[in-house]
Amino acid sequence: MRTMIQDSGSRPASPPALRAALLRWYRIHARPLPWRRTNDAYAIWVSEVMLQQTQVLTVIPYYERFLRAFPTCRALARASFDKVAEFWSGLGYYRRARLLHRAARLIVNDFEGHFPETYEAARQLPGVGHYTACAVLSIAYGTPFPVLDGNVARVASRLRGLSGNLHDVKFRKEIEKQLRELLSTRRPGDFNQALMELGQLVCLPRNPRCPSCPLRKCCRASLSGDPERYPAPRPRRLSETYHLAAAVIVCDGKVGLVRGLDDHLLSDLWNFPSRFGLTPHEALENLKGTLISDGSPSPRVIRRLGAIHHRITFRNISAQVYEFPRDAVTRPLRWFSWRRLQTAAISQLARKTAAVAEHRLHA
Ligand code: SF4
Repeated sequence: MRTMIQDSGSRPASPPALRAALLRWYRIHARPLPWRRTNDAYAIWVSEVMLQQTQVLTVIPYYERFLRAFPTCRALARASFDKVAEFWSGLGYYRRARLLHRAARLIVNDFEGHFPETYEAARQLPGVGHYTACAVLSIAYGTPFPVLDGNVARVASRLRGLSGNLHDVKFRKEIEKQLRELLSTRRPGDFNQALMELGQLVCLPRNPRCPSCPLRKCCRASLSGDPERYPAPRPRRLSETYHLAAAVIVCDGKVGLVRGLDDHLLSDLWNFPSRFGLTPHEALENLKGTLISDGSPSPRVIRRLGAIHHRITFRNISAQVYEFPRDAVTRPLRWFSWRRLQTAAISQLARKTAAVAEHRLHA
């Protein structure tokens, strides 16, 4: 990787001038997001975890409901994981909820229920990586750590005219070094949030709104006339199609679910017993094979109930939904009424499967 500094002939603004322009803009344009109304490290931590893989507008209702249900770290630690997953259901990436819950219990045990104030202690918590530790410590406690998410990295690389791939560790280190030089030590939390906000609202990946940007006069990418060149585009992973067979087993008006899907996916959530395969036929055979190895003598399909499509990261999942008799599965199942499925901690894939099954079975 080659890090280039494009000299457009501009004179970079001094860090204090740049900070002042950025913070002034933030004061006027910051969106009134619910996690910006608090200094509570726990609430800020929850928002940072939710925002890791999910858009701001999607997170807001989940965040508000979650904090109503678990207003403190102690309340979260006391809850069962099933309860926590219920409030996470729909946000995806459930491993985040699992780790958040585990970390809450550790915080109650080891830190009297308060998110730790040092980087080293924060990093000991499950699920708290470098990014989350820096974000929570800078926003909640004013500790001067720069925060480097995708939006901030894009703004910083454009500002300094640095070309490189954001997934390259060396390039990210260079960006982080630049950020440390710019960071406001008096208001690191606002500075970090201002850069994130600028990246989300103005310095967009495509068609950045340079004329409305408070940093345009000192931005090397903008002055070069082609800001989108920075940073280099991420090499894309091609999506892959996966075939899945899902078993719907009904008993006394309830459906039987298991934890996890297949291939270590969705392991924290309830799902219909399912197996992947290279073709729909192979997926069904794999499913029957699993039922046999679980102790079922000869699992047979009663009928095919329908098909669904679902996407998990790069996986395009094409699932066939089959009804199996009660005795097709001998391993313990968790039984849910159709109504309970609406709020239970089940995956989105299971939710779609349930909708298809319920429609056919009750038609
Ligand atoms: S001037 Fe344009 S490219 Fe530079 S930081 Fe602002 S929006 Fe991004």
